[in-house]
Amino acid sequence: MIFLSRIARENRREIDDVLLRLRVLFEEISPLIESYNAEVCPYCEDVCCKQRHAYYDSEDMIYISALGLAVPEYSERGLEEPCEFLSSKGCSRPRWQRPFRCTWYFCEPLLSHMYNGPGRPHRRFVSLLQDIVELRGNLVSYCCEETKVQKLLF
Ligand code: SF4
Ligand code: SF4
Repeated sequence: MIFLSRIARENRREIDDVLLRLRVLFEEISPLIESYNAEVCPYCEDVCCKQRHAYYDSEDMIYISALGLAVPEYSERGLEEPCEFLSSKGCSRPRWQRPFRCTWYFCEPLLSHMYNGPGRPHRRFVSLLQDIVELRGNLVSYCCEETKVQKLLF
């Protein structure tokens, strides 16, 4: 677990700025993705929201730590069982707090629907996703740099 409690003030400002921009991007991309989901997912026979996707990976952990959020207390259930955050109305977690794979993963039917749909929302979606990937990369770099400094100091 990475602890970012002693971040230098200047770096903290940069990290907070990235977090804010990420939040804005997630808020914009979420309804776009949901509009695609609404068209395709009701016909799905093997829903991808499995428990194994509910867990954060190492980059998610950096992001969650930078936000100052706690990792959820997961229930005990099989990795192939439905994700514990899946409700009758879809995912119960705000997108900006979900594992990032929940935003970038698209199955073939969904991809095909997106490519064959109107171009403008699709281009906007691609642009938003690229911005999110870039900002997450920046965040991880800042935080890893800061962690290296902390290790040198302590
Ligand atoms: S994204 Fe694809 S695999 Fe997942 S629930 Fe929708 S249709 Fe099914
Ligand atoms: S989108 Fe939500 S319900 Fe689906 S796997 Fe991710 S956290 Fe679970």
